[in-house]
Amino acid sequence: MPGSRVQLGEIDPSRTPGLRGPGEQERAAAEAIHAQNVVALQDLQYRLWAEGQRSVLVVLQGMDTAGKDGTIRHVFGPLNPQGVRVVGFKQPTPEELAHDYLWRIHQHTPEKGRIVIFNRSHYEDVLVVRVHALVPEPVWRERYEQINQFESLLASNATTILKFFLHISKAEQKQRLQERLDDPAKRWKFSAGDLDERKRWGDYHEAYDDAISRCSTDHAPWFIIPADRKWYRNWAISSIVRGALERMNPEPPTPDFDPTTVTID
Ligand code: AMP
Ligand code: MG
Repeated sequence: MPGSRVQLGEIDPSRTPGLRGPGEQERAAAEAIHAQNVVALQDLQYRLWAEGQRSVLVVLQGMDTAGKDGTIRHVFGPLNPQGVRVVGFKQPTPEELAHDYLWRIHQHTPEKGRIVIFNRSHYEDVLVVRVHALVPEPVWRERYEQINQFESLLASNATTILKFFLHISKAEQKQRLQERLDDPAKRWKFSAGDLDERKRWGDYHEAYDDAISRCSTDHAPWFIIPADRKWYRNWAISSIVRGALERMNPEPPTPDFDPTTVTID
């Protein structure tokens, strides 16, 4: 909620708000609704593209293994790749570091008609950068306001911004990291660095508490998604994105000619 103070430590990552419970029945129902959401999103995306007047920016953040890649596959994977782009943000290159931190971000914001998904984002510049003290505190402290201004600029340029924090428990992360170690097909995803980050779990949560509290605005809200259950995460995110696009209600332009007067030989 814009304006309120968030404490992730008080939010249970295995909860299923919006559903009656986490049981098998609710799971089956949520999976069915998710499938319907995907079909609805395909139509909404088509209309957004045809309208060509507005865009959508989805920001995905979360600790390692939180499910950013899985969300992209399950929620956005089925959309027409012509109108959707995924952009992942890794450690900045020397060229990127030679500019202000929003420089590399702004190049990838969606043009009209497009949905862009950020897999990590400018929020890394108040998360990993803060936790590892990559810049002095006064520098990152200023960034919350700069980010709000930046997002406000995008919003007033017809971009709908939806930011999702995929909230997993430390125990769930342990399991998912172990799976990456054990499963030869997933092993490439494992990085020893993830264990160092895991040791800073508390510091990351503090940084997230601040980022989410300070940068949740009416024009760019944060949604905290309990993400220990992947099916719940998929349902929640596809429902929120669908709702946002339905409110936008994109309409293809009406032709500036009378189609009944056109004859095709
Ligand atoms: P992955 O998401 O597993 O591909 O990892 C990308 C890595 O890049 C993560 O460890 C991020 O914390 C790191 N990263 C992303 N943006 C930044 C940034 N602005 N400064 C430093 N590290 C970053
Ligand atoms: Mg990783």
